[in-house]
Amino acid sequence: MKKHNFSAGPAILPAEVLTQAASAVTDLDGIGLSLLEISHRSPEFKAILEEATALPKELLHIPETHEVLYLPGGASSQFFMAAMNLLAEDGLGAYIDTGSWSAKAIKEAKAFGPVEVVASSKDKNYTYIPKGYQIPQDATYLHVTSNNTIFGTQFSAFPETNIPMVADMSSDIFSRPLDVSRFGIIYAGAQKNLGPAGTTLVIIHKDMLGKVKRAIPTMLNYQTHIDKGSAFNTPPVFPIYVCLLTLRWIAHHGGVSEIQKSNASKATKVYEAIDRNPLFRCPVPKEDRSQMNAVFVTQNSEHESLFLEKCKANNISGIKGHRSVGGFRASIYNAMPMESIDVLVEVMDDFANKHG
Ligand SMILES: *Cc1c(COP(=O)(O)O)cnc(C)c1O
Repeated sequence: MKKHNFSAGPAILPAEVLTQAASAVTDLDGIGLSLLEISHRSPEFKAILEEATALPKELLHIPETHEVLYLPGGASSQFFMAAMNLLAEDGLGAYIDTGSWSAKAIKEAKAFGPVEVVASSKDKNYTYIPKGYQIPQDATYLHVTSNNTIFGTQFSAFPETNIPMVADMSSDIFSRPLDVSRFGIIYAGAQKNLGPAGTTLVIIHKDMLGKVKRAIPTMLNYQTHIDKGSAFNTPPVFPIYVCLLTLRWIAHHGGVSEIQKSNASKATKVYEAIDRNPLFRCPVPKEDRSQMNAVFVTQNSEHESLFLEKCKANNISGIKGHRSVGGFRASIYNAMPMESIDVLVEVMDDFANKHG
């Protein structure tokens, strides 16, 4: 029996995407060859890459000023690549520190230029999104982590600023509409909300580039990948293809505004179950709660292993919290079906009735 997959990442993909991906591995669209054994310069793969680049533009209404790229190296490579390409030695990178991923981005940027952490929620173990801070007007960019996968917080609105933002959207890309014009770079490792591990979607404002003097290795230069349409070298063909299948699935389901509505109703159900059962507690205040990763703990530590057992017995997988936070984390990405949410909520209510 297929399990209810609440894993934080690599994470759930739509069932039909998995079926189509599996079939393309043996025979891509009936051409008599596997997707994995054709040239990345073949007309078939060129069409895949073109559509995988065009669909994000359509779904997020990306303006002409921005390019869409598929890069290797995971979101973690974007931590340094963004700074290497944008941050001059006499520039300023402003960062909001909302968790482990932000902290990693900050550490990497420091190798390239001055960095200022303008706000942090580290004082309360990253359980909230900072508010009421000043952003230096001379900053080259403001880096934000839009959704904090580990701590279960999310920017419900982005900071009011005219400084271009660089955003790590690894765990909430395509979960809601965006004003892309406000961003210098958006990057997202595919394996949370888009596809398999192995490629990172990058949306980049072309005017941000060419302003630093340092030498940038060819593969680490965004301009290379813009000039060569994400095919300077052999791109990760399978991850890109699966991203394309997911993008088609999003388009087929009415686009990101419909996805946002369905995400909101899924998240509401999970948080209501946490809030109405005194055995459970969400450490994040309502206004900062993530629509993608609902983090919760048991009030009584003895209930922790018992609840985990009950989840296992009900085919619920991947619900254990990150090792740095403990407790539980229900990752409820775009592809999470309502029926799995309903199973989780029922298990929570039932557990609370028995042990409350
Ligand atoms: C998972 C995650 C990353 C790391 O992604 P990799 O592709 O493994 O490098 C970075 N940022 C956020 C917000 C994440 O959730």
